[in-house]
Amino acid sequence: MSGKLIVVSNRIPTAATPSGGLVFALHETLRKTGGIWIGSDPEFQADPSDTLKEIGDQSTYQRLAFEMSETDYQTFYLGFANSVLWPVCHRRGDLVQMSRRFEEGYRRVNKRLARQIFEVAGPEDMIWVHDYHFFPLAADLRELGFEGKIGFFLHIPFPALGDMGALPPSANLAHWLADYDLVGLQTRSDVARCLEMFRSELGAELMHDGKIKYGERRVGVRSFPIGIDVEAFVATAEKSTNREEIAKDLSGELIIGVDRLDYSKGLPNRFRAFGRYLETRKDKERRPSLLQIAPPTREEVSAYRDIRFELEELAGRLNGENAELDWTPLRYIHRNIDRDVLAKLFRTARVGFVTPFADGMNLVAKEYIAAQDPEDPGVLVLSRMAGAAEDMTEALLVNPYDIEEMSEALAQALDMPLEERQARYTACMKRVRATDVGRWSENYLNALKDSRRDLSWSSFNERHKNSA
Ligand code: ADP
Repeated sequence: MSGKLIVVSNRIPTAATPSGGLVFALHETLRKTGGIWIGSDPEFQADPSDTLKEIGDQSTYQRLAFEMSETDYQTFYLGFANSVLWPVCHRRGDLVQMSRRFEEGYRRVNKRLARQIFEVAGPEDMIWVHDYHFFPLAADLRELGFEGKIGFFLHIPFPALGDMGALPPSANLAHWLADYDLVGLQTRSDVARCLEMFRSELGAELMHDGKIKYGERRVGVRSFPIGIDVEAFVATAEKSTNREEIAKDLSGELIIGVDRLDYSKGLPNRFRAFGRYLETRKDKERRPSLLQIAPPTREEVSAYRDIRFELEELAGRLNGENAELDWTPLRYIHRNIDRDVLAKLFRTARVGFVTPFADGMNLVAKEYIAAQDPEDPGVLVLSRMAGAAEDMTEALLVNPYDIEEMSEALAQALDMPLEERQARYTACMKRVRATDVGRWSENYLNALKDSRRDLSWSSFNERHKNSA
């Protein structure tokens, strides 16, 4: 690559060496190649600047922030991104909040950001855009005349064609995505849904090389299942083998769930399934506990407040009905936990209980597997609806709408003999290693470098002008 790499994501890390899988992988990539990471400034400005500003550590590559007003945050981030696109992509059209202000905010922030990127991008630079906050960014950059390579990676599920009906007509995903050179999605099912969308568009054609031809544009659509920083997570989990220390208050067998408190994560049904397991278990002396860690997220959005109330009520009822003087079956922690403690909790837990209704990948499933002791591993109970289930077929796969099936899977997991646990763990761990996040970003960037734009942008721009 003769130009530099420009990464765009909503959040930008500011620490010299950031932690966390994806952030760390992108940081490592940029540390090696140099370049720019662009993300949003967490401070609101009454009058957002037209230029990007330096933010955080600048020692190995440039970190630049785009400013937003509070209205931008309300309409672009909480509004269109998280009250329209997020529910549509997670099959919850019923939770969509429609507002012209949201659409306008989304377009305004993307257009402003495109102008700011255009100022700092050279013609040979390669731009890698992350996630649903920025679907139209390539279209806006092309309109300004940027002809270099632009890639997109969607971390959440690609929406089903039927669900896209809940989007306003101005949100034309096919039109927006066709201006990228490469659209990266998590799973083969996501790719199938994306191709279905293009097939339904007049003027789109599936080419022999697997690309989509849309008017004069060509776009590649491929899956790149994301993973975790495997070695780092294994090392963190191994650091303390002292189960007693971490589990001194966690009597009996532990089942663990760790998720942002999001309606897509299927938490109420998870609690119900655990309750059902307690009711139906044969050995009443057995006292497993479910530890659910669920930090708050997007609490300004009403659907997130609703799920919190629902869970609190369910948790109270479950403990009221089942607790003993010396046993609390459900522990529900509503805050963030240090990653090293989390890794040790995963290692301690007999069962990882991961039951989303819809999830792009679900990294918790991979972290749970990576944290296990190979000599005495726990069992992953995983929703078929999580992207991770496409590859981790040796987990106990469940339907997150089927309380009975999930309760039976808990029983099966808690009773599973060592040999079977080891066989399932080994198969899942193979997939966790194969999708290591360092390799993921390398694979994606190599594919983007190899993508060819075989059309003349001047003719595209001409066409745009003529149709305007
Ligand atoms: P999503 O991206 O939808 O939140 P993922 O499962 O893909 O879901 O990723 C969540 C990440 O956040 C994981 O790395 C997980 O360990 C981390 N995480 C989730 N809950 C907590 C928590 N309470 N404390 C610390 N980290 C958490």
